[in-house]
Amino acid sequence: MEDAQVERYARHIVLKEVGGAGQQKLLKSSVLCIGAGGLGSPLIMYLAAAGVGTIGIVDDDAVALSNLQRQVLHRTGDIGLHKTDSARAAVADINPEVVVHVHRTRLDADNAADLIRDYDLVCDGSDNFLTRFALHDACFRARKPLVSAAVLRFDGQLATWRGYEADKPCYRCLYPDIPPEEQTCAQDGVLGAIVGVMGTLQATEAVKELLRLGEGLAGRLLIYDGLAASFRTLKVRPDPECPLCGNGGS
Ligand code: ZN
Repeated sequence: MEDAQVERYARHIVLKEVGGAGQQKLLKSSVLCIGAGGLGSPLIMYLAAAGVGTIGIVDDDAVALSNLQRQVLHRTGDIGLHKTDSARAAVADINPEVVVHVHRTRLDADNAADLIRDYDLVCDGSDNFLTRFALHDACFRARKPLVSAAVLRFDGQLATWRGYEADKPCYRCLYPDIPPEEQTCAQDGVLGAIVGVMGTLQATEAVKELLRLGEGLAGRLLIYDGLAASFRTLKVRPDPECPLCGNGGS
């Protein structure tokens, strides 16, 4: 590492669990982030600041005034820009060492495998079940860890999916198929800081997965109740009848 890198990442390097070797690993890592919105904002900013070497950003949306209440990656002057372009500029401001690949598209079952192929880890900050299921199934098949966050109103959820490992559940063990009705932040609202909490926790888990630190969230679901100011974790077990990882699909 160059002197400026040693200084930039000094608070990581001094952590004995990270150290110089861990920081080097982050610099060589690549993470694909689905969505440059509310969850993607703190996620992308913290991954960039942490020195994750390559960050991919998938989003097909443009910045709108109604995004700015929570999507802190984007500024008032960015309204009308593609979110991928606004996000790329924000990352360059935070840490110009980071290589950003933008994918201005909507992830679906047809392109998911191609999009995730070159990355070590995938983070889901999307806002709909179609994307969520397509992404999860592609990550499962490619044996790629997926850190997935979701928010609504005052509540958040976070989990890591590594269902391709024998003792770990997949997303479809919890939700076998796409629910018929979807609640959205556009309809039901979301407190801005809730996405900040969950996107930041997602960045924490992403760095932990990359460095294999501590206890991950594979096999657990973290639930944040913002109104009660409480966190709890539920165990999620592999379902032998799961349509994807169990016997249910064969
Ligand atoms: Zn499963």
